[in-house]
Amino acid sequence: MAYVVEYKCARCGSKYKPNIPQTVCKSCNGPLLAVYDIELAKKVLGKHVFSSRPNSMWRYLELLPISDERNIVSLGEGYTPLIKLERLREKLGLKNLYMKDEGRNPTATFKDRPISATVSVLKELNVKSVAIPTAGNAGASLAAYGVRAGLDVHIVMPSDTPKTIYMEAVFHNVDVKLVNGLISDAGKYVAEAVSRYGWFDISTMKVPYRVEGTKTMGFEVCEQLGWSSPDVIIFPTGGGEGVIGIWKAFKELIELGWVKRMPRIVVVQSECCKPIVSAYNRGSERVEFFSGCKTIASGLRVPKPFADKEILKIIRESGGTAVDVSEKEIINSLNELASKEGILACPEGAAAYAAVKKLLDYKLIDKDEETIVYNTGSGLKYMDLLYQTPDT
Ligand SMILES: *Cc1c(COP(=O)(O)O)cnc(C)c1O
Ligand SMILES: [Zn+2]
Repeated sequence: MAYVVEYKCARCGSKYKPNIPQTVCKSCNGPLLAVYDIELAKKVLGKHVFSSRPNSMWRYLELLPISDERNIVSLGEGYTPLIKLERLREKLGLKNLYMKDEGRNPTATFKDRPISATVSVLKELNVKSVAIPTAGNAGASLAAYGVRAGLDVHIVMPSDTPKTIYMEAVFHNVDVKLVNGLISDAGKYVAEAVSRYGWFDISTMKVPYRVEGTKTMGFEVCEQLGWSSPDVIIFPTGGGEGVIGIWKAFKELIELGWVKRMPRIVVVQSECCKPIVSAYNRGSERVEFFSGCKTIASGLRVPKPFADKEILKIIRESGGTAVDVSEKEIINSLNELASKEGILACPEGAAAYAAVKKLLDYKLIDKDEETIVYNTGSGLKYMDLLYQTPDT
């Protein structure tokens, strides 16, 4: 059972073999994407098969990059609830507003999906040492899945990453290094160490495996809506693996003939760190390095996403848009979700919800449209940033 036929460069189309570890395109340095034998998958799969499968992202096994099921490294990631925001929906006058709550994952963010997929592939391809530059959550997740797979794990994150996230990695007893600066500085550190020690670097979009796990967030929404596409998807974006994964999910589902259309994909960034929003508004195909990224939504502090070209293309081709929100809007939204819907969102998820109001104001979503907001993680991981001394 091996449905991945090849990995293909998203930019120049060069093709690479699935049976050895792949990174980026050797001819143009672009990101690689997995290509499946969809015709073969069509023969064995039908929409009906999934209801009897395990409630994890591995229910979509044939559309994930693993040949032997025994190599799956899982902690029960995915199959998160799609929650209708009844009270906020009514307040905003929207008919169908849902939150996909990724805070329910094993390490409480959606990063468990890409990391479970990647660690499983590394096990299958016999890679032993792995390194990751991270804004925090992908590192905490790699710590958990890495030790479970018996890998040698190296994590590099900014020194001002929320303490809970740093402590997770520490408790999993892996190598964690703090650097001054942002994920871009962690990336430089890892790139150097990789060439010295021979670690395998799984930076965002620099291996084709992570996005395969991420795409299950798109599959699940379709399945949870009775195999139909929503109108609008709103995702808080840093490195862009989330939106690229969701876009790829819909591409594959359309090819399989299970859904009819691509939703409009909306990227949300913090006004303090908005390289994608700026490039989108300039009409540019590429981002410029965005300096001074300082936001409570630490997962969005990515000053120069590697797959900028792909993210911008997805926004434009899907008819979506890119919006930024202020720190005040993030905190207000976090409070609103917590006090009205019982959802303690992470600041990134709160940013995505804050964007709904803007999109309504700009008339970019219609009141009747089915709108999905991703809460990418649990607010519990950010308590050291959010904590305020109670009034006595
Ligand atoms: C990583 C992360 C994001 C951003 O996702 P990308 O795929 O990098 O765009 C958003 N929210 C949280 C909580 C994250 O950990
Ligand atoms: Zn290429």
